[in-house]
Amino acid sequence: MKWGDMRRSDNVEDVRGEGSGIPGRAGGVGIGGILIAIVASLVFGVNPLEVLNLIQGGGVAPAPQRPSQPINDRDSDFVKAVLGDTEDTWNQIFKQQLNARYQAPHLVLFSSAVNSACGFARSASGPFYCPADDKVYLDMSFFRQINATAGTNADFARAYAISHEVGHHVQNLLGISNKVRQLQTRGSKTAANSLSVRLELQADCFAGIWGHYTAERSLVNQSDIEGAINTAAQIGDDYLQKQAQGHVVPEAFTHGSSQQRVSWFTRGLKTGKLNQCDTFAAQ
Ligand SMILES: [Zn+2]
Repeated sequence: MKWGDMRRSDNVEDVRGEGSGIPGRAGGVGIGGILIAIVASLVFGVNPLEVLNLIQGGGVAPAPQRPSQPINDRDSDFVKAVLGDTEDTWNQIFKQQLNARYQAPHLVLFSSAVNSACGFARSASGPFYCPADDKVYLDMSFFRQINATAGTNADFARAYAISHEVGHHVQNLLGISNKVRQLQTRGSKTAANSLSVRLELQADCFAGIWGHYTAERSLVNQSDIEGAINTAAQIGDDYLQKQAQGHVVPEAFTHGSSQQRVSWFTRGLKTGKLNQCDTFAAQ
C-alpha cells in the first residue's frame, strides 16, 4: 500500500504515554489524598490545593499532568495518513452521492487504557468508535496483532481496521446507528442481535468503499486487498472482545460470520457505492 503521499489528518489526538485517566487516580494523588486535603482545609482553614501540593511533595504550583510529547513515529504518521485519506474520500463521496457535507471524526491514539465519552476502555477491547464524542479510539497493540495475521501486507489491513471504525462514524452521521438503537430497544434479543450484525457488516462495506477509491488511484494492489480480506476473516471485534477486560463495548456483541464480512467488504470495494451497502435489506 502506498500511503506516503496521502494527506496527513489534523484530527489525530495522541495520548500514548499519558495516564489515560485510569479511574481512582487524580493528578498522581489518590481519592484518599484529595479527601485528606478537603478535611484538612475544613479543620485548619487552609487552601485544599496547598495541602494537595504538600501531599504530592511538590512546590507551590500544581504538578503538570501531560508528561510526554506525542511521538511522531511511523505508526502515528501512518494513522494520520490513512485518516486524512478517509476524510478526503468521504468528503468526495458525500458530495457526489448524497449532495451533503462530510464531518470528519477525531481519532485518539492510546496505549493500554483510555477514558472516552462511552466509558473506560482497555486496549484489549480493540479499536472502537464512540458516537457520544464522535471519536475513533485506536490502540497500537492492536496494530501489532494485525501484523501477525496479515503478514507482509499488513498496512492495508490496518487501514481497513481504521476505515471500518470510520464506517461507524458515517453510520452515525447518516442517522443509521440511532435508528438501529431505537429498533433494538423495541424488538426481541434475537432481532437486536441481527441488527447489530447488519450494522457491523455495513461498516465493513463502507470500509470497502474507501478501499475502492484507494484502488482507483492505484494506491493498493491485489495482494494488499487479500491481506485485508484475511484480516476481515480472522480478527473481528468478536475475537478482540473475547480477550477484553475493560467494560466498554460501544460496538455490538455479535458480528457477522467471516464469510459475510469478506463478502460485504468486497462489495463496497468493487462498487464504491453507498447504495450497494444496504445490509438491512439483505436476506
Ligand atoms: Zn465495528
